[in-house]
Amino acid sequence: MAIVISGKDLAHEKREYMKNQVVELEKKYGRKPKLVVILVGDNPASVSYVSGKEKACIEIGITNETIRLSSDTTEEELLKIIDRLNNDSQVDGILTQLPLPKQINEDAVINAINPEKDVDGFHPQNVAALFLKQPGTTPCTPKGILEVLDSVNIPIEGKKCVVVGRSNIVGLPVSKLMLDRNATVTIAHSRTKDLASVTKEADILIAAVGKPLFIKENMVKDGAVVIDVGVNRNPETGKLCGDVDFENVKDKASYITKVPGGIGPMTITCLMENTIECFIKHMEEK
Ligand code: NDP
Repeated sequence: MAIVISGKDLAHEKREYMKNQVVELEKKYGRKPKLVVILVGDNPASVSYVSGKEKACIEIGITNETIRLSSDTTEEELLKIIDRLNNDSQVDGILTQLPLPKQINEDAVINAINPEKDVDGFHPQNVAALFLKQPGTTPCTPKGILEVLDSVNIPIEGKKCVVVGRSNIVGLPVSKLMLDRNATVTIAHSRTKDLASVTKEADILIAAVGKPLFIKENMVKDGAVVIDVGVNRNPETGKLCGDVDFENVKDKASYITKVPGGIGPMTITCLMENTIECFIKHMEEK
């Protein structure tokens, strides 16, 4: 049976540290970091993610404002709000919860956020910074994955890492972070042939597919480290589950994360970390 790495426990530990950090930062700079989250519409998953972010801000002491807009908000209206927040010296981080309703172009919204307040790390300037190894904001989920691996001292250098998924928010950036740590990285996707033979090569397998229980035990090498990024509903039980068939894979892996309680809590924690980092840069520039 694998050792289950608890993202929840790690997140708790990091949040305790950040609580004290925010107290010290307020003493130093005269105010707390401020994050503004914009939620357009009432997609249940988005509402739940935004509520998780609000709770984390309250727990850590970060000032939080959620701007709730109706689902028929126009792109122009949203861009106006972002412009106001970009120019508000009391705001350190801006996040627009994705996905957005179809009348709004997501790229236009991501591009409009001041990269120095882009706590998600999605702005092209921050994406370029990641790929060129320049200073910038690292996206939260990939950052959380690396922190989870480091929390139990998983060696990364020289290891074969297979990432299943190539999205801009998870697969691609986490592959770059693993490459920067000198892993030999393979990125698999929906057109990969004989996926099991690819994933079976992995010393570290990162699943970011978005398909419930997709990674089965026959796709995992004995002793592999398995990181499950997926957040899905189990079609049979209706319960939250990952991309990895945990019950069967756990006997093959050496380390594994669980859903819920794995990468999810670390994603929000890294968002808080990014907000604090943006705040410090903002204050130092004044
Ligand atoms: P996307 O839908 O953007 O990307 C999914 C990726 O999986 C694509 O690259 C796709 O390939 C690949 N894929 C789909 N089907 C297969 C297949 N049969 N074989 C191999 N690869 C396949 O999803 P995200 O990256 O945004 O999210 C992935 C999962 O992670 C989701 O469950 C999401 O909810 C979760 N998530 C969790 C977070 C957390 O905090 N824990 C944060 C963000 C996401 P192709 O490119 O060819 O289409």
